[in-house]
Amino acid sequence: MRLVILGGGESGVGTAILGKKKGYDVFVSDFGKIKENYKEVLFLNEIAWEEQMHTEELILNADVVMKSPGIPDKSPIVKKLLEKKITVISEIEFAAPYTDATIIGITGSNGKTTTTMLTYHLLKAAGLNVGLGGNIGKSFAWQMADNKYDSYVLELSSFQLDGIINFKPHIAIITNISPDHLDRYNYKYENYIDAKFRITMNQTEDDYLIYDADDEAINEWFKTHTTRAKLIPFSLTKTFSEGAYIENNKMEIKINQEEFTMNTDHIALEGKHNMKNAMAATSVAKLMQIRKATIRESLSNFQGVEHRLEKVLKIQNVQYINDSKATNVNATFFALDSMNAPTVWIVGGVDKGNDYNELMSLVREKVKAIICLGVDNKKIIDVFGNVVDMMIEVSTMDDAVRMAQRLSEKGDVVLLSPACASFDLFENYEDRGNQFKQAVKNL
Ligand code: ADP
Repeated sequence: MRLVILGGGESGVGTAILGKKKGYDVFVSDFGKIKENYKEVLFLNEIAWEEQMHTEELILNADVVMKSPGIPDKSPIVKKLLEKKITVISEIEFAAPYTDATIIGITGSNGKTTTTMLTYHLLKAAGLNVGLGGNIGKSFAWQMADNKYDSYVLELSSFQLDGIINFKPHIAIITNISPDHLDRYNYKYENYIDAKFRITMNQTEDDYLIYDADDEAINEWFKTHTTRAKLIPFSLTKTFSEGAYIENNKMEIKINQEEFTMNTDHIALEGKHNMKNAMAATSVAKLMQIRKATIRESLSNFQGVEHRLEKVLKIQNVQYINDSKATNVNATFFALDSMNAPTVWIVGGVDKGNDYNELMSLVREKVKAIICLGVDNKKIIDVFGNVVDMMIEVSTMDDAVRMAQRLSEKGDVVLLSPACASFDLFENYEDRGNQFKQAVKNL
């Protein structure tokens, strides 16, 4: 059996190693460059590869192709494969049959990483033999080749779900859905929503789907579709006999005739969106029958994930917060919503078709100054120019932070929550967040 892998990154190399171990004739082809460390791994495992080209004779003879999530269906080589009716799948589809571990799959537009890390934290603290994978850390396929865990918590993007056929998580979470990556879905929001819901398409009556019952796109989907999985909704506004909700400052989880209650003040994560993430992760913990005391302790000591509403430093009584991972309007909405003090807001970058008007009332209420940090800030200036008293443009993180210091007073917050991708001025969101933290430390 010939396994061809398009893309020589983490998921590609992981799949190559697993495939080789399982006896496939493996070939890795990357149209860009493959990183040195991955080349070394391929070499050591005697796996054939090429870079900066796709040699059709070596690819179109595949029995099965694993396509890395970054490669769009529109790319010429994928089109040719599909025309020839060659099966093109994602890493999780390839790897999942090699384990009978319990799979917890987490998708959504925002909150995937936070919910995945918190779920992992809860299960690990309970002593389960649990692995972490998907978009985070070491590829799932690679772990199939190396380790043996009893359960896996996987962060799953819509691109990974596009490439599944039989993959089925025992527990699935859809954190929320808002428009993102529409360029990969023919600019049709329905296609992106359908991609997210693929997480439940193979689930049976024995499986669970945990989802945000406040989410418009999710509720709309349920009007015209069904799933066989047992449903566990979570909400900030509704209550359920089976599900998770917040009432009178308490998080309530009701699952399988059992109840778990915790005062939200004792949950370390802050902000409404994080209460949603906590409800989702705690529902998993309950389904996995983790003891209440362990859940309580884990929720009270989980400090969140870097670059997600991360408190950096307080300088002259001004709190600096790094939310560089906010690459869309919805994420920034929740960031602004959780601010409790006048805010100097650093925003901008590469906008993927943002509608900033969704932020208007929060900006009016909370933002005293806007610092635009992008190559093209016109849209932001047009929308908010008349709404805030102070607005300036800068083109480096150092300038942004220095200006923020100048514009802020005791008791204020300086929030980096860009609502945009970072590629105009930075390598990626981590680089942007790290530069912010460094600039703050230099003040
Ligand atoms: P993802 O992995 O889906 O990108 P992250 O957990 O990395 O999600 O968070 C991305 C951004 O979205 C951060 O700015 C974070 O503060 C914000 N965020 C986290 N959880 C939610 C949520 N449930 N709803 C909306 N925004 C969220």
